[in-house]
Amino acid sequence: MVKKRENITLKGIGVSSGIAIGRAHLIERGRIEVEERSIKPGQVERETNRFKRAVEQSKGQLRRIKGKFVKEGAKEHIYIIDAHLLILEDRMLIDDTIKNIREGLIGAEGALKRHMHDLSKIFDRIEDEYLRARKSDIEQIGERVLRNLVGKRHEGLSHIKEKVVIVAHDLTPSDTAQMKKDKILGFITDIGGRTSHTSIVARSLEIPAVVGLDNITQQIMPGDIVVLDGMTGVVIINPPKAVFKAYLERSQNYQYFEEELLRFKELPSVTKDGYSVRLAGNIELPEEIPSLKDHGAQGIGLYRTEFLYMGKRLPTEEDHFDVYRRLAEGVAPYSATIRTLDMGGDKLTSHIEWAEETNPAMGLRAIRFSLKEVELFKAQLSGILRASAYGKLKIMFPMISGMMELRQAKEILSEVKSELDSKGIPYDREMEVGIMMEIPSAAAIADILAKEADFFSIGTNDLIQYSLAIDRVNEHVAYLYEPLHPAVIRIIKGVVDAAHNAGIKVSMCGEMAGEPAYVPILLGLGLDELSMNAPVIPWVKKIVRGVSMSDAKKLLSDVMAFTAASEIESHVRERMAELFPDEFMGR
Ligand code: PEP
Ligand code: MG
Repeated sequence: MVKKRENITLKGIGVSSGIAIGRAHLIERGRIEVEERSIKPGQVERETNRFKRAVEQSKGQLRRIKGKFVKEGAKEHIYIIDAHLLILEDRMLIDDTIKNIREGLIGAEGALKRHMHDLSKIFDRIEDEYLRARKSDIEQIGERVLRNLVGKRHEGLSHIKEKVVIVAHDLTPSDTAQMKKDKILGFITDIGGRTSHTSIVARSLEIPAVVGLDNITQQIMPGDIVVLDGMTGVVIINPPKAVFKAYLERSQNYQYFEEELLRFKELPSVTKDGYSVRLAGNIELPEEIPSLKDHGAQGIGLYRTEFLYMGKRLPTEEDHFDVYRRLAEGVAPYSATIRTLDMGGDKLTSHIEWAEETNPAMGLRAIRFSLKEVELFKAQLSGILRASAYGKLKIMFPMISGMMELRQAKEILSEVKSELDSKGIPYDREMEVGIMMEIPSAAAIADILAKEADFFSIGTNDLIQYSLAIDRVNEHVAYLYEPLHPAVIRIIKGVVDAAHNAGIKVSMCGEMAGEPAYVPILLGLGLDELSMNAPVIPWVKKIVRGVSMSDAKKLLSDVMAFTAASEIESHVRERMAELFPDEFMGR
């Protein structure tokens, strides 16, 4: 008999906040193990047809789910199912698998598995977290086709009648989208990242979730009690009574806390002494606009456009225009800041030829790529400009390292404007053009760049990575990734001061902006805007409203006297526990 495992604590990536406590419901969705089977040349056609049938069957299943969403009016999830349908139509998936059958003389299952393995290796080399997360979309599709090939059912979630915590190797966005909030208390998975579609859907449905737990499916037995904290990423299996009770209390408080926070949604984001800071949202799909509104976001501070490039073909100007117009109209009367493509190195899609790079984080990415692939860049700029006639848009260039890049990008923008002028197409002539501040060299010349940029947006995710020389996705040096490192605070201060001296505004859109404990320091630094994941906005607003600018300035000057990040972090936590005991005591 297997001995019941008690009080096991694991740490994954908290991707959707909230606490869930309940019995585990394991979804039998582990990897399907298949052996490579040799075939004879005469069997090639049969295997090819089996594969094609399985692809068609998979499309049928996805279309049925989509039909259900259409009926239920769950429009926001249809887009994601469509993205999966597009992957199923990708020639690379079909052709490479068939090639494996034909040239490798192996059965359909093995041929598909081999193709998935090759793709997986390509994705593992990708530096960019957002793009690497797309790997799971492709894996999920591969698994679905494989399941259909071997005749295994794809267990859905809509039949679940009791309240449970879902435990799975991975979940597809369509699984997540089918979750009923009154039945599914939360979910935990072996794999996944913050920016996978499954995580995005979980956040928009507000279902607590922790992903990336490695092998949680092997550690949990059906019926085990699971506690998960979607904010911290902590998961406890069969906790002792005291821990169970403490979490139960926290979860009840949490609900209260969340409801209480939503009261702040309509209130202005001003400090006690009348200083206002704009709180905006970071999103990557237009479907997330309702969630922005529900949390009181004042528009979009960062729209990541990478998702547009993940389809089966490169986006056309029209594709860009459609999405950005939805944003412009959707966030009115506020504005949306659209960041031009920020893809990181390595070959990624069949459409973009990426060079092999040993260090893609410092390679041909973001604005460097756009300045090289001018036609692609122009299509995006033209889409943004045209959409600017329908609401308030701003444009932002990522990874600017020096003045020439900004000038070149603006030059191309002027060319696109002239092309639109010659066709009589309207656009917002006053549209602001800003830059991301995420490379130390740009921060060092912020005073110079401020003369030619309309605004700055500090991307702390990269700024910290490059300033501290800490690979943001390398778990071995994660302990050194310190947002409150004195160097980081000084760099941010330099950027904000330079912007203000030049009379331009400065925003922060990296993850640091959405860390409630850091809000007083960021206010003290003088940021005009903080842009973050929508659900944290009410909490951040509560903090803004609960401090005065003089408190914030005092905290900042105290903090600047410390010499190490750890000292600053504990000082900030102590001070926050005094100012906001309900939220920060014991955290
Ligand atoms: C950043 O670097 O802080 C940022 C917001 O951009 P991304 O996370 O997309 O690199
Ligand atoms: Mg960045």
